[in-house]
Amino acid sequence: MDFQQVFGKPSETKASAPGRVNLLGEHTDYNDGFVLPTAIPQCTTVQLGFSSDSQHHFYSENLNEQVSISDINRNPSGFASYIFGCIEVLQKAGYTIPSLCVYVQSSVPIGSGLSSSAALEVATLRAVRQLLKLPIDDIEIAQFAQQAEIHYAGVQCGIMDQMASSLADTEHILFLDTRTLERRVMPLPEKAEILVIDSGVPRTLASSGYNQRRAECEEAARSLGVKALRDITGTEVTEKLPEPLRRRARHVVTEDNRVLEVLQGVSSERFGELMNASHASLRDDYEVSVPALDTLVELLQKTPGVFGARLTGAGFGGASVALVAAGEARSIATHVLEQYKQAGYIGQILVPSLELSDAA
Ligand code: ADP
Ligand code: MG
Repeated sequence: MDFQQVFGKPSETKASAPGRVNLLGEHTDYNDGFVLPTAIPQCTTVQLGFSSDSQHHFYSENLNEQVSISDINRNPSGFASYIFGCIEVLQKAGYTIPSLCVYVQSSVPIGSGLSSSAALEVATLRAVRQLLKLPIDDIEIAQFAQQAEIHYAGVQCGIMDQMASSLADTEHILFLDTRTLERRVMPLPEKAEILVIDSGVPRTLASSGYNQRRAECEEAARSLGVKALRDITGTEVTEKLPEPLRRRARHVVTEDNRVLEVLQGVSSERFGELMNASHASLRDDYEVSVPALDTLVELLQKTPGVFGARLTGAGFGGASVALVAAGEARSIATHVLEQYKQAGYIGQILVPSLELSDAA
């Protein structure tokens, strides 16, 4: 099905936005800290046209699902909530949005921690901006996208995913200060590329575990008398806290420092060491890893050509990210996935995308 077949006429415009993977700076964004995501090659494309009735009509090719927004269905769930959220957030900001036909197609894996949700929001907002010539910049796009996800999809997310989708590309990493939104675009580490492998373990406890960690960080910040853990720079201070707050805070403080070290400019080897240290900290201090992810990350870390590896995303399952020698990601993945299988798990390579290169 294409736009014409679904809506009976050609589209007026289209726009795309990429998914993202976070290289360093995990569980720091809700502590006002620092993150280092990069865009992945997979992206979401949104085609738009004007609706010929008073309703919005949304179609997702990935889900083969169509949803119409009428006056009696103004609280859609599922994928429609992200798109309708973007439209509503623009209306609330004072822009008049006509009824639209929206066609979504994506190569970003959905629900794997590569932020298909932010890609959908940013692509939608870019397409609407283009269609209606709205005077909004890329930062505002990210902010509107985050508002849509929080208020309409009901996900209490930080700003990282939307900023990454709106501002990053696949050749650079985006340093972002999540408190001030100060940012810097830096090249990827030299002679290196990104390898993302899904552990095959679903992120089952992710949302309850995430909320618990968030609450622990808030409590730690309160005990230390600071607005957020970002305001602590050394671990001498966090050592005074009772357990488990001591280890939770130590992760956040050391993780922020790892991101800041990268900002000073580091080699691929050092970047990899920082990723390895990040994984150890997420496993031991933050306790968000699971045996499958530890196995996968260890296999990656001991494979020649790998600078460093860690779990990426909230943890409790999901994906690993590794920095590897340029041109070697595929062969490293094949080797690691074979050993991972012998350990009893089935993983899957997500980046570099097998699908995209088959299509090329
Ligand atoms: P992630 O962002 O890590 O992929 P989320 O749970 O945050 O996972 O977002 C996934 C949700 O976003 C899906 O359940 C769906 O509602 C929506 N979504 C993302 N991409 C698409 C798409 N191409 N078609 C339909 N819905 C999508
Ligand atoms: Mg998401």
